[in-house]
Amino acid sequence: MAKRPYIVGNWKMHGTRSMLAEARAIDRAAERLMKVEVALAPPATLIHATRKEADLIGVGAQDCHAAEGGAYTGDISAAMTKDAGAGFVILGHSERRTYHQETDADVQAKAASALAAGLNVIICIGETEAQREAGEAEKIVAAQLAGSLPQTPDAGDRITVAYEPVWAIGTGKTPTVDDVNAMHKAIRETLHSVYGDAASEIRILYGGSVNAQNAAELLAGPEVGGALVGGASLSAESFVGIVVAA
Ligand code: PGA
Repeated sequence: MAKRPYIVGNWKMHGTRSMLAEARAIDRAAERLMKVEVALAPPATLIHATRKEADLIGVGAQDCHAAEGGAYTGDISAAMTKDAGAGFVILGHSERRTYHQETDADVQAKAASALAAGLNVIICIGETEAQREAGEAEKIVAAQLAGSLPQTPDAGDRITVAYEPVWAIGTGKTPTVDDVNAMHKAIRETLHSVYGDAASEIRILYGGSVNAQNAAELLAGPEVGGALVGGASLSAESFVGIVVAA
């Protein structure tokens, strides 16, 4: 049976406890919209409080460290993330790859650690504008994906992939629906080559300037299993608009 569309909000480095009212409002709306699976990834400081405020939606983290523990000042392990109340973690977001120099191998190691700690993972991949203009988008994304995916026997249940063209994140620019569909089809092929039959169950999200106006069109493609939403997830009103459109 096809899975429900999955709409995940990534609050990035936004949000203090005053934002919990938005999480609560999103949770209340999710009760009416059970055809969609809704989740939020607040900053690490709010994971525990968000989990307590919201019973229905998934709550996750935006990153974790690959090591189980140790002398890593300022870092947070997968087990600590889970203990705080997270059910999943977003890994390899382009902002992590750019500002923290995360490589595919880093993402793969973090993903393995997260799975071992009992977290599901959302693996992010996407090309830059220059790579798209050079006609290399599919090749780059396939290589990123193959290098970032962890080995696991239950990939279909525990892994989600988010295709986020770097040039579409926070810019108001989006790829054409045909480009999204072509990329998601190519991603599905890579997933099959890594996981075999289990790949059919993996949801592939689109991310990058999704809003309540463009969501229905961007999410209509046969291989688009939902959306990873940044800016528009910061207010319950705009985020719920996307959930309704899904
Ligand atoms: P955006 O961010 O929706 O603000 O473009 C998407 C993301 O980074 O996941």
